[in-house]
Amino acid sequence: MTSESKPSGISPLIDTHIHLDTYPEEQQTAILDNRQGCGLKSVISVSMNLESSRRNLELACQYQGFVEPAFGFHPEQPLPSDDEIKALFSFMDEHVNDMVAVGEVGLPYYSRLEALAAGGAWDNTLYENLLERFIIFAKQHHKPIVLHAVYEDADAACDLLKKHGVTSAHFHWFKGSAETLQRMADAGYYISFTPDLLYEPEIQELAREYPPSQVMTETDGPWPFEGPFAGQVTHPVMTAEVAAAWAEIQGVSVNEARRILYSNACRFYGI
Ligand SMILES: [Zn+2]
Repeated sequence: MTSESKPSGISPLIDTHIHLDTYPEEQQTAILDNRQGCGLKSVISVSMNLESSRRNLELACQYQGFVEPAFGFHPEQPLPSDDEIKALFSFMDEHVNDMVAVGEVGLPYYSRLEALAAGGAWDNTLYENLLERFIIFAKQHHKPIVLHAVYEDADAACDLLKKHGVTSAHFHWFKGSAETLQRMADAGYYISFTPDLLYEPEIQELAREYPPSQVMTETDGPWPFEGPFAGQVTHPVMTAEVAAAWAEIQGVSVNEARRILYSNACRFYGI
């Protein structure tokens, strides 16, 4: 138990998935300047590519203990060149002790749907190969891995994780079938809920079903939300409302929910 989670006080939270480096500067500064007293212990800032990994490393150095960086390549974009991949992996090798996890990595579900809907062809093989390299890196360096893999892509990611014996996997903002969800729960993988837990019945159903010891809070900021969050800049403090919504679904007190969500995140990320 840390000093911030005294039995008498309210438990802090962790935003386990945010793209802090992609916020406009004034919004990023506002989040970081108000980090004390916002109820957040830390944020896991995931990266889009090498440049983004460099920026997240800088933020982590500047805001030690609050910004915990993950390095990787987001799958919903054109594949990098071989040289870019090589440069990213050498950066990760060099900064392996600075990174809390590998991420954000995964498979391009939405890009593929878009390409196929537009009548284009699609080959997923190179994306799967790149994901496998990240999984091997995570295994070799004993790092957790943060996955963008939804619907049927989650099954493909589970196959690759199983192939390499990786058990420390976080499927952020997961959406998918009950069968896939069961498979992930049985494998010990974690999922996290964004602010859409307050208004998406599909996500509320997941939150009812998934083991309470394997769930965390996130925002995926700066991604914007709807419902009660419409028009607002996505901020890590929104995890408090995610925790309250999960408490209601689980029928536990808000502080008990926060304590569970916080300790799950600390355990998963080793922070
Ligand atoms: Zn993300």
